[in-house]
Amino acid sequence: MARYRDANCKLCRREGEKLFLKGHRCLTDKCALEKRNFAPGQHGQSTRFKTSNYGRQLREKQKVRRVYGILESQFRNYFAKAERKVGVTGEILLQMLECRLDNMVYRLGLAPSRKAARQLVRHRHVLVNSHIVDIPSFQIRPNDLIKIKDKSKNLDIIHSSLKEFGQIELPWLRLNKAALEGELLEIPKRQDIPLTANEQLIVELYSK
Ligand code: SF4
Repeated sequence: MARYRDANCKLCRREGEKLFLKGHRCLTDKCALEKRNFAPGQHGQSTRFKTSNYGRQLREKQKVRRVYGILESQFRNYFAKAERKVGVTGEILLQMLECRLDNMVYRLGLAPSRKAARQLVRHRHVLVNSHIVDIPSFQIRPNDLIKIKDKSKNLDIIHSSLKEFGQIELPWLRLNKAALEGELLEIPKRQDIPLTANEQLIVELYSK
């Protein structure tokens, strides 16, 4: 499966904000944005470029795509699906991204980053409703139970993540720390999704 292999910190520098792609490191002064808060590349520090409307839409789309670790074609597919559903397209798009299994594992605090969560899933450490699911994009539905496999419960990465990050209190998720399991209580509403993005700009970009 194709995936992004270049430096993660470049992505944050390009977007000009922390995307929290590296877990623990993002919370320390080793974060690249602390030292080099400008875009990567030869013209990264140049101030002579004006941002057009299209530029703002593109940046917003790239930011959201990078936060969730999704490639362009897959992101377009999410948008196409969101567009076919009844409701506010931008909100549905974010809901679909939030309900990905790798994102849920991250939101529950069982992994320090979405990348680490994706690896836990890929390496078959995660059960959904008592069945192993190794597809990071698997869509979780309300009342689905996400659990760490018994044999994998001693993994350091899970315990250090829970200790360091804990679970961010989200009204649509429930975590049982002792059992290393969590449940999606309901599809999250936009105001309950902790993401600073203007999804309307993405809708405008793809609606051209
Ligand atoms: Fe982004 Fe984390 Fe790198 Fe900082 S350390 S630039 S937040 S990925």
